[in-house]
Amino acid sequence: MKRFLLLPLFALMLVVQSKESSDWPYHGLTLSEQRYSTLKLITDANVGRLGLAWHYKLDVDRGTEATPIVVDGVMYTTGAFSIVYALDARTGKLIWKYDPQVPRLFASRACCDAVNRGVAVLDGRVFVGTLDGYLVALSAKTGKVEWKVDTIIDRSRAYTITGAPRIAAGRIVIGNGGAEFGVRGYVTAYEATTGKQAWRFFTVPGDPSKPFESPVLAQAAKTWTGEWWKYGGGGTVWDSMAYDPQTNLLFIGVGNGSPWVRKYRSPDGGDNLFLSSIVALKANTGEYVWHYQTTPGDSWDFTATQHMILADIVFSGRERRVIMQAPKNGFFYVLDRVTGELLSAEKYVATSWATRVDMKTGRPVESPDADYFKEPKLTLPSPYGGHNWQPMAYHPGTQLVYIPAQELAFPMITDPKFKMTSPLLWNTGIAVAGLPEDKQTEAAVLAQTGGRLIAWDPVEGRAVWNVQEDHPFNGGVLATAGNLVFQGRAEGKLVAYSADKGTQLWEAPSQTGIIAPPMTYAISGEQYVTVMAGWGGALGLVGGTIANAAGVRSISRVLTFKLDAKEVLPPAPAQPSLPELAEMTEPAATIDRGRAVFHQYCSACHGATAVGGGVIADLRYLNARQRNVFVETVQNGIAATGMPSFANLISAEDIAAIRAYINKRAHDAKGK
Ligand code: CA
Repeated sequence: MKRFLLLPLFALMLVVQSKESSDWPYHGLTLSEQRYSTLKLITDANVGRLGLAWHYKLDVDRGTEATPIVVDGVMYTTGAFSIVYALDARTGKLIWKYDPQVPRLFASRACCDAVNRGVAVLDGRVFVGTLDGYLVALSAKTGKVEWKVDTIIDRSRAYTITGAPRIAAGRIVIGNGGAEFGVRGYVTAYEATTGKQAWRFFTVPGDPSKPFESPVLAQAAKTWTGEWWKYGGGGTVWDSMAYDPQTNLLFIGVGNGSPWVRKYRSPDGGDNLFLSSIVALKANTGEYVWHYQTTPGDSWDFTATQHMILADIVFSGRERRVIMQAPKNGFFYVLDRVTGELLSAEKYVATSWATRVDMKTGRPVESPDADYFKEPKLTLPSPYGGHNWQPMAYHPGTQLVYIPAQELAFPMITDPKFKMTSPLLWNTGIAVAGLPEDKQTEAAVLAQTGGRLIAWDPVEGRAVWNVQEDHPFNGGVLATAGNLVFQGRAEGKLVAYSADKGTQLWEAPSQTGIIAPPMTYAISGEQYVTVMAGWGGALGLVGGTIANAAGVRSISRVLTFKLDAKEVLPPAPAQPSLPELAEMTEPAATIDRGRAVFHQYCSACHGATAVGGGVIADLRYLNARQRNVFVETVQNGIAATGMPSFANLISAEDIAAIRAYINKRAHDAKGK
């Protein structure tokens, strides 16, 4: 009897294995999120023959961050405003498209562009979290909506979804964004077939005069002071999760505090659990199991939402089931994922806020430069992180983790007059100063700003090799059994390196900055490498100076490569030139006033120092007609593009001062 059962089972396992090795079924390829493909039709020996096989133009040119899913020859991917595309993975031909018609104003409720990091696919359904906060199940065959649920608990707050849904214990799990504006974080699991809510876990405690939603929140509340819940508290789970079927644990990466400055949200201190923490939950109930807080009492936007990888590695002579993360704060953590025990915490980039992590207490040892409340401090890493959401990869052969890291400093300055003006605007408690506007200082800042692809030995806690990159905010990483590591670059190319040594072996131009991670699949004996190209995201909006240095703008496409393919991209549109400028007649005091107001309200989207990031309008390029209606435009907003109304926030006089400042910056650009 047993023999009869075993044979078909064995055959089934073979089918499953071969299927899994040629598809890309989950966000991180496997549930362990290693982003390591066993495919080796493309290797370090033949990667030089890789060429463009096909390209597909997306509807909206904005930040493009998705990892496509490939199942049975069909690619499911997303672009800006959560538009879903089903493409023939061999040819790039559109099979169906689903546009959730996200109101464009939600772009202004998202800190970091109208991005989406992709779908989940399970049993003939495609799941997408939309920027306006819905979780939608689509038929994988037709793209028709099967069910749609509202994941947002309070629509008066700036909740959004940009992350990819994850599959855990057969359910669909999704969190949200919004901690820059002032929200309370949580994750929710839904039944895949019906969309019925299975459980919800809040990451920070709410108003303590009301019952806590779970027993662990009563404990967490003891680490908060003041009236944090009025600000939301933060702790959004906006990107990373990983699921371990062996232990049935779901790991969630929890984000920063609302507002950023702890003194404002929790005035008498405290660790503020579970901000900036990795939290392990029972996947079937959402019950708390353990947590590790990477940045107690976070005041720097040091989220622990960055990519988490599960692996089984030998650590100090013992086989350990680990979880690994390089959160924004600059330390690379290795934890035992069953118990939460800290195994390693070493700097992967320079850190000014902490010197080291004490392995006995598991806590960072903060340096005097950590406290910027009394006086401004230039902080490393910046709120953009030593590493942001761009996924890493773990290669079981080299036993290295490849980290798309970056180096840029940020002046942390508290806003002494902070109050929550509107829950739909940025409320970080930080005064945004922008960058220096003289060319010498700007050049000096840029010289110290860059990216680094790091091959990290998680056991030794050190880098084995580094690739220095001119610009920060490069793409996520893919590792393959062909001894290859692929990464896209901010300045507009996809690059392949050898996984063991970091030697560059191949590159292809993309006409736009790549921030998304590449992925790979095989059909009929051919291996394909795909990346979503399209500059944008956090640094794409605010970091105009950096984007201009890299010479990028947003042209959003799916790019797919295979050996000996010869397709070419259509010519890129010409860079715009400055229009005829208005004379600078306003006094210096007006321009200075405009500079201050611009950085308070406008720079997060239109770029620090009014240098656009190549994604949305660069205001220096306004023509005479646009300048004439500038005050009315800022007061009314432009619903079609996502520009909100500032009528109740900025006076007409101050808007005119912003225009004077922008005009000055346009003249600065002309002088270059
Ligand atoms: Ca944040």
